[in-house]
Amino acid sequence: MSAYETIVSAIDGRAAAVAQLSRKIHANPELRFEEKQASAWLADAVEQAGVAVERGVGGLPTAFRARIGRPGAARVAILAEYDALPEIGHACGHNLIAGGAVGAFLGLASVANDLGGEVLLLGTPAEEGGGGKIKLLEAGAFEGVDAAMMFHPLDRDLLSHASLASEWLTFSFTGRPSHAAASPWDGYSALSAVIQTFNLIDSQRVHFRDGSRVHGFITNGGQAVNIIPEHAACQFSVRATRVAYLAELVERVQDCAKAAALATRVELAIERVPGYRDMKDNMTLARAFGDVLAGLGRHAAEDDPDLGAGSTDMGDVSHRVPSIHPYLAICARGETTCHEHAFAAHAASDQGMATMLDAARAMALTAQRFLSDADLRDAVRAEFKRGS
Ligand SMILES: [Zn+2]
Repeated sequence: MSAYETIVSAIDGRAAAVAQLSRKIHANPELRFEEKQASAWLADAVEQAGVAVERGVGGLPTAFRARIGRPGAARVAILAEYDALPEIGHACGHNLIAGGAVGAFLGLASVANDLGGEVLLLGTPAEEGGGGKIKLLEAGAFEGVDAAMMFHPLDRDLLSHASLASEWLTFSFTGRPSHAAASPWDGYSALSAVIQTFNLIDSQRVHFRDGSRVHGFITNGGQAVNIIPEHAACQFSVRATRVAYLAELVERVQDCAKAAALATRVELAIERVPGYRDMKDNMTLARAFGDVLAGLGRHAAEDDPDLGAGSTDMGDVSHRVPSIHPYLAICARGETTCHEHAFAAHAASDQGMATMLDAARAMALTAQRFLSDADLRDAVRAEFKRGS
């Protein structure tokens, strides 16, 4: 049997077990950094297949790593995510990302001695707002990795799609309280500053570059109707298509809060929480994935410019290592999308499982090709160095 046939039949042989594992994770959703069961079940499955697993990588109790092959031409990392969302569970389908990664890894384990290099399975916690991959990058978990890959479920097949660079800003205003009827002239309203912050940001939107997103909510609107609010606060998520422009946009949004504080004569404290970097898809590797996928009967578009974009910590990985983050459909186009109840249902459906297994086959075969094809590796590296 060829490596291709061996890999595909190994994945087919484990299809039922991987689907069962994915459905078990789906039925037991765990929030970011609390994925104790999911990470243990995934690591157990890999160990049961005879591959050692290192648990608690990079100081993260729910991260894990396994390794097959031996040092050689290159090292590929296949990434699993497995965190869920508050209240809507696995509405981002990370149970499928996890199953796809484990399926791909165990498929490659069937040809481990002939890979010509190494494959890592990295269990990456807390994609939903925790930045697990950023912590793993900082801990050196991606050292020596030549290519990183994962897949994400969606309502259509795409080899690549934009993901926005992001940052969270919290504006806390402190004014002076006074009786809102008897002596309003003695007070300075922190709530007025919050309201003016929103108004000023909206007044500036016309100048924002295409694809930017600035969305906020009031986290503290005051204490009582008869007191001029002493404390008020709001939080904004600022997103941009490129990390360089994000810095400019964050400045502009902060200026709105500063101007609001000045006009309303209140104090302002700003808390900045860095988010994720934009996704830099390595199109050479994405197209190689697309070729393999076409061989499996699925024809993915390179991108869809009409589709909206979120943010992912895979963006941070993609700035350090040539990376791909293709999307595969688990429902009809336009039917539903990530972070909706209906999407959570599709993430446990037969179509979801079939897509997960296609992803496993396509990732495994792409990784195998990357390790055995020096021209592909050179082209991937060259694109990464060019920075586009
Ligand atoms: Zn997701």
